[in-house]
Amino acid sequence: MKKSLLYPFLIVSLSFLLGACSEPKKETTVSKKEEVNEANEKGATESNVTPTAEWSYEEETGPEHWGELDSAYAACMKGNEQSPINIEPSLEETSETKLENIEFQYEPTQFSIVNTGHTVQANPATSSNSIVVEGIEYKLAQFHFHTPSEHQFNGQQMDMELHLVHQDANGELAVLGLLIQAGKKNEQLASIWSRLPKSETKSDIAIEEPVDLQALLPSNQTSFYYNGSLTTPPCTEKVKWIVFEEPIEMSKEQIQAFQQIFHNNQRPVQPVNGREIIKEIAQ
Ligand SMILES: [Zn+2]
Repeated sequence: MKKSLLYPFLIVSLSFLLGACSEPKKETTVSKKEEVNEANEKGATESNVTPTAEWSYEEETGPEHWGELDSAYAACMKGNEQSPINIEPSLEETSETKLENIEFQYEPTQFSIVNTGHTVQANPATSSNSIVVEGIEYKLAQFHFHTPSEHQFNGQQMDMELHLVHQDANGELAVLGLLIQAGKKNEQLASIWSRLPKSETKSDIAIEEPVDLQALLPSNQTSFYYNGSLTTPPCTEKVKWIVFEEPIEMSKEQIQAFQQIFHNNQRPVQPVNGREIIKEIAQ
């Protein structure tokens, strides 16, 4: 191939690859880090070069049909360790060993936000936030929201749920689930809420004020560990879930502001299929 032809060819291939790693409608100019979202994380690390099908939370492209929309989404239908689930705290095995407790290494951090068309997602400007689970460090990749909550306790749904998505050096995911109930205004999230993008964004919106995730966590850190999946296509499994029992609060106005953008972006609970759910009592 002549040199003059090679350059345009490389640009075309590069934009194709970048486009294929992210959701189909996403801009191809986003950085690698911004592409790390719950829906496409695994696709971005495996060499998935085929754009995947559009999905939604309603009707023909809703959760009941995800597995049929694209062969890449087969786990949504055929997987047997899917998320979210209903947790029944009284039935779960308890583990009171301090050793297993999750370690949070969060600090005030600048974020930018995007409306992906499926949720509002916040991307950290640095990789300084992480958690340590069973001795393995997982760095925060992004966080995003669902309404109503995806996980349930004793069959009860809450108003919203926050997912903090972390990734270790091998690309394995650990997601922290925080249920949200109506109550006090959440000051930690106020700066993000003041800029909530009402429709799908083409580029990130920088949030001036740093967000301190440490201050966002509930005071009682008793949580439930189980092995599950992404709750959005491609529903990839081997995701380590940590769901806090105590909900955090947001004001009714904050919850409604999100619900005006996404009135329902929740996947229904999936069968537990005998999975071990471990209750970790905070010491
Ligand atoms: Zn999520």
